[in-house]
Amino acid sequence: MGKVTGFMEYERVEEGYAPAADRVKNYKEFVIGLSDEQAKIQAARCMDCGTPFCNNGCPVNNIIPDFNDLIYRGDWKNAIEVLHSTNNFPDFTGRVCPAPCEAACTLNINDAAVGIKSIEHAIIDKAWEEAWVEPQPATVKTGKKVAVVGSGPAGMAAAQQLARVGHAVTVFEKNDSVGGLLRFGIPDFKFDKSHIDLRVKQMEAEGVVFKTNTLIGDMPKDSKVTNWAKTHISAQQLTKDFDAVLLAGGAEQSRDLPVPGRELAGVHFAMEFLPQQNRVNAGGKVKDQIRADGKHVIVIGGGDTGSDCVGTSNRHGAASVTQFELMPMPPEQEDKPMVWPYWPLKLRTSSSHEEGCVREFAISTKEFVGKNGKLTGLKTVHVEFKNGKFTEIAGTEKEYPADLVLLAMGFVSPVASILEAFGVDKDARGNVQAGTDEVGGYVSSQSGVFAAGDIRRGQSLVVWAIREGRQAARAIDEYLMGSSVLPR
Ligand SMILES: Cc1cc2nc3c(=O)[nH]c(=O)nc-3n(C[C@H](O)[C@H](O)[C@H](O)COP(=O)(O)OP(=O)(O)OC[C@H]3O[C@@H](n4cnc5c(N)ncnc54)[C@H](O)[C@@H]3O)c2cc1C
Ligand code: SF4
Repeated sequence: MGKVTGFMEYERVEEGYAPAADRVKNYKEFVIGLSDEQAKIQAARCMDCGTPFCNNGCPVNNIIPDFNDLIYRGDWKNAIEVLHSTNNFPDFTGRVCPAPCEAACTLNINDAAVGIKSIEHAIIDKAWEEAWVEPQPATVKTGKKVAVVGSGPAGMAAAQQLARVGHAVTVFEKNDSVGGLLRFGIPDFKFDKSHIDLRVKQMEAEGVVFKTNTLIGDMPKDSKVTNWAKTHISAQQLTKDFDAVLLAGGAEQSRDLPVPGRELAGVHFAMEFLPQQNRVNAGGKVKDQIRADGKHVIVIGGGDTGSDCVGTSNRHGAASVTQFELMPMPPEQEDKPMVWPYWPLKLRTSSSHEEGCVREFAISTKEFVGKNGKLTGLKTVHVEFKNGKFTEIAGTEKEYPADLVLLAMGFVSPVASILEAFGVDKDARGNVQAGTDEVGGYVSSQSGVFAAGDIRRGQSLVVWAIREGRQAARAIDEYLMGSSVLPR
């Protein structure tokens, strides 16, 4: 434990943000990380609990008290070793993780949690600055070939782990760049794509081969899922050419809102809108980009994806941005004794909300209205949740003007045809059926075909994808070699 009395002496300090008026002028990251001295003081707040709930609350089980202690003592080099021992990409999670570890921190019971995520962010940024992040190529090659389908955080983590124990790993990606939703979902202002590029370089030096613009299996022609593939490889060919296959294709099928008027021009999925802007930011060309300039924008869905649509619409210069959420407004403060150490339900105001947005809760969209095939507005009603279902509240009907509606209501499942091409069983939600047991985990109903990340667990978080990628890598290594030295 760094400083025995640290938690009594020091207040939690948050990372800073560039002012909203400045940051909406561009798509650059705007979080101002902790200085070395600030990180040391924040780490000094850690009590090195006998039972570190933070470690259990973290999906990759980061060894948080240990790196806090090292940072307090100024040993940044060992701190990154500890962090990398459980997490391949703290540069990703240190930026976009909602930090369930902090919800679980013991200090969060009657004080403010240790700023674990900001410390993680400071450690990995220092590690890159100091060139401590180096490729770790395997010294012995196994001669086994593994195909990873999908280059999101699950596929990347698995590929890195597998290459480091000597397997020849090829990652196939249907889009034109690596990173999955980190690349084409999460906006650049939250997560700059150079962080992925640095990891791709590291992984290539470790022997991983990336094949972009390559679709594995089948995708329906009318699918609205991003697919910029120029090459196609069948599932049969892939399973023939490789000793093991990991399906890490995410859960890309967006939830739709099939109410009257859905076909009107101006109603789009969030995942049609967001990838286009990230692509433009990367210097790519997008024909007929969906733009929010001067428009009244309504985002349907109150989660992270919705919030990213709010931030992007404001950067386009929308006339107004309103966000709808079906559920009632949660309390501003959680009932800590009731929920700790679990993830609490409470009102979350994101940096994008702070940039300008009206938020409506307990509201349901009944119809999109338009003229000459073009959206002009939508009709809503307020609802209450009674006896296990939503009931409309009479007299609360309203019509909102809207030129652009973005549907951000989450994802229902992976694209079914991809799973069907591999002949793997699906669970009740349409994900790949595979468990997470220490023995026999992550394997699908087809021998040698494994699954990890959103494609297996459903829509989730980057940190869960990394965990699953790491654990699936171990399962694949055991399948190929009979045993594995990879951690779970
Ligand atoms: C807008 C948005 C914002 C988000 N914000 C956050 C956040 O702030 N924090 C957080 O923790 N999580 C966030 N998430 C969730 C997070 O991004 C996902 O949970 C995570 O990326 C899942 O990782 P994955 O590797 O399983 O799949 P994905 O990231 O979805 O990657 C799958 C990849 O596989 C490719 N692929 C699919 N099928 C094929 C095929 N047949 N052939 C070749 N390639 C294929 C896809 O093109 C894609 O690149 C957000 C999600 C969205 C949509
Ligand atoms: S729960 Fe909080 S105080 Fe306890 S070890 Fe983890 S970070 Fe430190």
